[in-house]
Amino acid sequence: MPDDDAIRCDACPVLCYIKPGRAGACDRYANHEGQLVRVDPHVVLDKALSRGGSVVPFLDREQEWDGNIVGGTFITAIGAGTTYPDYKPAPFIISSEVHGVDMVTVVTEGIFSYCGVKLKIDTDRYLGPEQNAVRAQGEPIGHVTTSEYGSQMLSLGGVRHLTGGSRKEGNVTCETLLNLCNGNAVELSVDEGASVVVQAGKPPVVDDVREERMRVGCGSATIGMFAKQWFGKVDEVVVVDDHITGVLSEHQAGKLLGVPETGIKMKGRRSTPGRYFQVAEPGTAWGGTNIEDPLSILHPFNREVAWPGLRLLMVSTTGEHQAYFELDERLKPVEKELPITLRESVARIKENCEPALCTVLFMGGAGGSLRAGVTENPVRLTHSVRDALTRVTCGGAPVYIWPGGGITFMVDVSRMPENAFGYVPTPALVAPIEFTLKLDDYKGLGGYVDQVRPLSSIMPDDGRKHVSPRPENPWPLAPAKPRSKP
Ligand code: SF4
Repeated sequence: MPDDDAIRCDACPVLCYIKPGRAGACDRYANHEGQLVRVDPHVVLDKALSRGGSVVPFLDREQEWDGNIVGGTFITAIGAGTTYPDYKPAPFIISSEVHGVDMVTVVTEGIFSYCGVKLKIDTDRYLGPEQNAVRAQGEPIGHVTTSEYGSQMLSLGGVRHLTGGSRKEGNVTCETLLNLCNGNAVELSVDEGASVVVQAGKPPVVDDVREERMRVGCGSATIGMFAKQWFGKVDEVVVVDDHITGVLSEHQAGKLLGVPETGIKMKGRRSTPGRYFQVAEPGTAWGGTNIEDPLSILHPFNREVAWPGLRLLMVSTTGEHQAYFELDERLKPVEKELPITLRESVARIKENCEPALCTVLFMGGAGGSLRAGVTENPVRLTHSVRDALTRVTCGGAPVYIWPGGGITFMVDVSRMPENAFGYVPTPALVAPIEFTLKLDDYKGLGGYVDQVRPLSSIMPDDGRKHVSPRPENPWPLAPAKPRSKP
């Protein structure tokens, strides 16, 4: 039996009984003197802060507040609370006037069982085979997916890991997603691959090596970019790359410049002239391959073509690895110090590499019951979002809405206010979501019009936390441009 003084939280399916002075299982709600309270402050975006304007002490705001949020205040869903079950109206449905048009913002902390993280890790270093499991604390929480240009990609979370495995798998998945979305560092390991420490907006650390740069391009692209700078200073250049290794004398860029044949013979599979696949196994050494010795990807030079003294530069796609050779009388490459004339081109490769970072995109589906907290006719919200009549934001940050059914969205967590995410032990992630649309459109959706209240009815409130909007984000209340129908 619950404690007499305990109160029941009904903000998620767990339905905790919470004793006085204690918090519920998710630490988001607490029993404060018999009242159920949301523990974290409710976050408000306040343009006055970014303008360097003085922050009016909350208790003094009463004199200044005109109830108009166009002036630069946006109520986010962070700390706003959740309604459960969803047929209840969202916690805040706030009216505003934007350029003379009556608007509504519906604000709720959504509980997402269908959610995950797409993780982009800027590195050529091999993390592991595609499709292999990614683990945290030994539990499978996702997998390696298709790599992109200069980046390894992981797909983490999703309903199968959250709910379809053991209880521990679900909890570790939820904890890892929460940490990543809130900007914390997480250690992951890939089956038959590397271990990697990732954190949004920070360089990855692969097998204890902190990545500095992402590659300038594949080996072929690097040849194309720098061929002119090498012309006349060296006879042959090999840009070592796990995907496409480039060879200057055979490459179209070398041909157009008139670079003569050198008799070089590459291992791997020739794709097109000067472009070779699979010169080595993937790894964490030269150009994302497993080679420590660059000469290991060469067969002996063609004796009919090569000549003693031939100058050969081998370099990786980041310029991190480089070696210079000259052929001896037996046409064997002998390593020599990199000539000054070539140092600049290697430095230029490094200079053209962008800093290696980790990018965390939260992906969730608001196409389910969450919509019922916005309107009694949920599919109309989906249509309205699809037609761009309703703007979706996460903590005020813009989202990308996937085409097709439902409201499946992605948001870059680094564009959101800090600690915007929470969790419930079902397990599921809690993410802020706001829907902003014209009041007339909201009425047309079957929205909870009787629940609409002006901002002045909830402001000022000294329990709210005012933060500066991020300059890179569009202002969430700026008029939306309706998408034209095909
Ligand atoms: S887990 Fe959190 S939201 Fe869910 S019932 Fe318990 S206190 Fe409330």
